[in-house]
Formats: sequence, structure tokens, C-alpha cells
Amino acid sequence: MGNCFDSKDIKINASDPCHPPQCGALGPGRASVPARQRASCGDARPTADSPPAWFEGMIRNCLQYACEAKAKGRHIVGILCEYTPRELIMAADAVPVCLCGGSAEMIGPAQEHLPANLCPLIKSTYGYHVQKANPFLEMADMVVAETTCDGKKKMYELMAETRPMYVLELPQKPNDADAMAHWVRELRKLKTRLEKAFGVTITDEKMRQAIRTMNRERALRRQLAELMKSDRPPLTGRQLLQFKSNISCICADVAQYRRALELYKPVSAEESVGQAPPYQIRVLMTGVPVVHGAERVVEIIESHGGLVVCMDNCTGLKPILEDVDETAADPMVALAEKYFRLPCSVMTKNSRRLDVLTELARQYQAQCVIDLVWQACLTYDVESYFVKRLAETDLGIPYLRIETDYSPSDSARIAMRVEALFETVRQRASA
Ligand code: SF4
Ligand code: SF4
Repeated sequence: MGNCFDSKDIKINASDPCHPPQCGALGPGRASVPARQRASCGDARPTADSPPAWFEGMIRNCLQYACEAKAKGRHIVGILCEYTPRELIMAADAVPVCLCGGSAEMIGPAQEHLPANLCPLIKSTYGYHVQKANPFLEMADMVVAETTCDGKKKMYELMAETRPMYVLELPQKPNDADAMAHWVRELRKLKTRLEKAFGVTITDEKMRQAIRTMNRERALRRQLAELMKSDRPPLTGRQLLQFKSNISCICADVAQYRRALELYKPVSAEESVGQAPPYQIRVLMTGVPVVHGAERVVEIIESHGGLVVCMDNCTGLKPILEDVDETAADPMVALAEKYFRLPCSVMTKNSRRLDVLTELARQYQAQCVIDLVWQACLTYDVESYFVKRLAETDLGIPYLRIETDYSPSDSARIAMRVEALFETVRQRASA
């Protein structure tokens, strides 16, 4: 998949999806590396052509890539959840693009149709739809969604009134014997739909090629995340969060992942001799996805003495922890098995999330857990009971649940609670 290309500024006008009006979260990413972090986190500041600078322009890069693909006759498929196997879409020679909204500006327009008491991620995504402000959605030939949480499911019905939409039925009892067979059937139905809609044949070989490509990208991103296991990580959590793309496997992105791995090395034991111990509190962040444009809580944590060494959510490690089996006899079954293991709170029971958290806390030497819950996200909100118990009782580290939305109105209150959490960690460390 994908041509390499150089990032160039593109002209913006209102009439062409490839040159849309600029809008909050769709502009180039913001370089928000708090000054206190910069001093202690290696040399990860953006220079003209560094990986941070490249990924600051992620949306612009993706837009250029999607426009070029579209001009060559390739189809664009919007996706809304990490349960959708990108490989299946890539095997149809189409381009999967994540459509999740991170802009607070889109919430007002969404609330003309949707209830105010709904998760901001759903509202923002829908706001882009009604405002026709997401160029990727405007150029999408199909949107693939899943039956995950109720808010999303019902929002999709509204979106489907005017957009070609395909909804996968996701089984929600992961331990049931017949759940996997159902999920495989659902993916086969999506394959048929893609083939009919785009006039292509998705062969096993094409699926295997896409699996290999995605596995390579997942491995690079995993290695980058593993840099944070070090006592002195060379990146901040905010910087790491930025090292990803709304379109997977663009080869220019892959080159930047490789470059980042060459550039950023953890400080070795010898190099750290004589240096003051790291002062940042190592945070394991869990909960809802932190989508592009909605990184405020991460920035608050890292500008108040914390370092997010690990994020287990869908915009962090969760989707890249495991690969798809490249040697499986049936690549569709291999895809189904990998994606179905994603421990989302829509599953019941979702005990795998707790197992993963336990292991990550150990590997990344977490000193506390911060559980982010978007307002009105019932599934993550209820699961916070289990996560709190795991952190405080099983892991023996402090826990903080932060419930918020995309508005900055509670930033000062969140900062105070984060500082209090960090003070508790420091007191325990010095006791
Ligand atoms: S948190 Fe759950 S519903 Fe949301 S993107 Fe991840 S898997 Fe999908
Ligand atoms: S954050 Fe929660 S409510 Fe929002 S889309 Fe994800 S699972 Fe649904």
C-alpha cells in the first residue's frame, strides 16, 4: 500500500473535499511539549524534517495521500473503531482512514441532532458529518462501523441516512464458544460487500500482503512505545502519541518511524551516572481513546510533573500489542482472531483488559494509573470500578479517574487532582 511523497502545503478552498476549509483538529498537529519535559526527555524537539515535525503535519500528509489515491481511482473507506481490520480494506486496494473526531468545535453542530448527554467522541465525529467538515469523510466511498457502544450504534443510523455505511455486528461475549465463528462470518460479509462495491476480488494473497504490511508497521510502533520502558525515556507520552497516522502504512510514515527509532535511544546506565534521578511520575494511562485534537489531559499530566510512559487505550498500545498470524491457513480467521482479542469495555466480561493492564504496569514501571473516561461513556465509566480495584489492591499503586469532555473548562480542576495524585506517589516513595 502507498506511495511515498513529500509533505507540501496544499491550497484550501470550500468546494473540493481534497482542499477543504481548515478546521480546528484537522489542522496540523500542535507541538505541545511542556518546557519542563523538554529539559529531561532527550532531544525530541521538532527540527525541520524530524519525526516530530513530520507527524505534526499528519492530517495534511494523510489528506495529500488520500487525494492522490483517489485521483488514481482507489477508494477511500472511513473507519470508526479499532475492531475494523484495516487489512481487509487494504486488500480491496482501498484506503482505510480513521474518522474519529477530536474537535470541541464540532460538538455544537452535532447536538442539533444528538442528545447533549453523549460521549464527545461520538458527537465530534457526527459534528464533522453534519458540517461536512472532515475531508476524509467527504471523499469516503464507504464507511465501515461496528456494533460497539449504544451511542455509536445509534449515531451510525443517523449518519447512514446520507452516507454509504456498512455495520459489522461485533459479538460482545468474547469467551463464548461461538463468538469467534460469528465474527469470522461478519468479516466474510464485509469482504463480499467490499468486492461488490468496488468491483474487486479480495484474494487470500492480497490479504496476506496487507497483513504483512500492517504487521511491519505495528512492530515499528511497538518498538517506539517500548522506548518508554526505560528509566529515562527519550520521548514524552505526548510526543509518542503523535507518532501515528490516521492512514496506516503510508511509506513516508514508515520511514519516519524507522528514523525515530534511530534517533531516540534511552539513556544507558553508564550515561546516567552522576545525573539526578528522573523527577517525573511514571503514569499508566488507560480508558477511552485520546484522538487527534483531544490530547488535553495528556498535556495537563505532563506539564504537572508526570510522564505518560504507557497508554493502553485504542490510540495507544491496545491495537498494536499483537500481530496477525502471517502463516495461518485462512488469513480471514487470522484477522478475526487478532481483532477480536481487543479488550474494549463494550465486551462482557472484559477481564482481558485487566490482564493487559497488569502486565503493562509491570513492564513500564508505572507509579500510578490515570483512567480517562469521556463524559457519558458508560462502558468505560462502569469498568473504572475494576480498574481502580486492580490498581489499588492488586498493583498497590494510586489510581485517579478523570471524567471530562473536549471542553477546556475543567483543566484547572484536573490539574489540581493530578498534582494531588503525584504528591501521594512522592509521599509513598519517600516513606
Ligand atoms: S474504545 Fe472500543 S469502541 Fe472505541 S475505538 Fe476502541 S475498540 Fe472501538
Ligand atoms: S469513548 Fe465510550 S461512549 Fe465514546 S465511542 Fe468510545 S466506547 Fe463509545
